[in-house]
Amino acid sequence: MIYLDCAATTQPNIKALTTFYNFSKINWFNPGSRLYSTDAANIIETSRSYIADIVGAQTNSIIFTSGATEAANMLMRGAHWDHVILSAIEHPCVYKTACSLPSADIHFVKNDADGKIDLVNLADLLEWCADQGGSVLVAIMGANNELGTIQPVEEIGNITHCYRDAYYFCDTTQLWPHEKISLEGIDYACMSAHKFGGLKGTGFLYVGEGAPIKPLLTGGHQEGGLRAGTENVGGIAAMAEALKITERDKAEARQKAEEVRKRITALSASAGIRINGGHDVVQNIVSLTMPDCDAQKMVAALAMNEIYIAAGSACSTGSAKPSRVLLATGMSEEEARRTIRISFDSKIRLKDIDTVFKQIELYRGVLKDDTYN
Ligand code: PLP
Repeated sequence: MIYLDCAATTQPNIKALTTFYNFSKINWFNPGSRLYSTDAANIIETSRSYIADIVGAQTNSIIFTSGATEAANMLMRGAHWDHVILSAIEHPCVYKTACSLPSADIHFVKNDADGKIDLVNLADLLEWCADQGGSVLVAIMGANNELGTIQPVEEIGNITHCYRDAYYFCDTTQLWPHEKISLEGIDYACMSAHKFGGLKGTGFLYVGEGAPIKPLLTGGHQEGGLRAGTENVGGIAAMAEALKITERDKAEARQKAEEVRKRITALSASAGIRINGGHDVVQNIVSLTMPDCDAQKMVAALAMNEIYIAAGSACSTGSAKPSRVLLATGMSEEEARRTIRISFDSKIRLKDIDTVFKQIELYRGVLKDDTYN
């Protein structure tokens, strides 16, 4: 098997799995049963300070959730927003949630063909919202899950904070595992453990000092009353372990990713395949537009050979519509339908990439659609 869909999910790290197993085997008590399960409660708090330390936050600013989707919903639905300014390339957990807020005015900030947002337009929109009055949430992701495009996080934070009652939410799900970032200037951030070798169903929301937050899930005292429900003790401990390993290996992983990306770039150029997203991208997400072949068919053909890639993002797989994100960069529907995504981690070898491109070339010959000429 050659797995090139790490933006969808990563294989759990063996140390994270062992941590989950050990903690779940011994400390399986309900952490809320304080008289006999102090160890389980301690594991949660130790993991929280561990994670806070790694991401450079105060311990009480980390709220454990089931993942990034829940974290995004919590801050977007939990606080009242009169205006939400977002990019058209946000992940559905932000995009759809924003569009479903009953009382918020939604404003889309312009982006260029790489997906980079227009900072002047952001300032104009903030100015307009300030004239109207009310609270403003700026929701612009750190790195895009389909293109890899990295946004100017620091500048977005600076511009946002020029305005009263305006807060910056950065979906850092695809950025944090690969790049060094600072939470300074970010009011809210979300993370998902299964994107960095942790387990599915665990993640967290970072809430900066003074940023409004209310619970989305009610009916329990957990997480300081902000997120009701018995905690996933083993999963939280495993997430802390996976984050520690990710942080420790980040520089080395980036170097490897640069090398792999270089090989993909060279092979794509000789095959006449275009790479999208520009230069400022997370190295391990590569969006490729083929000149002549349907992406869904290519993904299915490669899967028969145990090569796993994606067409657009995993979340939009199965939908007949071309990716909203790709269309928002100005791609035609046809181009979007010819676009595949390769995303990898450090386990990938250069020879795997060579194999994948050989297979892509082979299937392009078979699947070539003359209507694209
Ligand atoms: N945000 C981004 C950028 C993502 O890529 C994903 C997952 O694909 C999510 C949010 C949702 O994460 P989770 O699976 O933890 O809900």
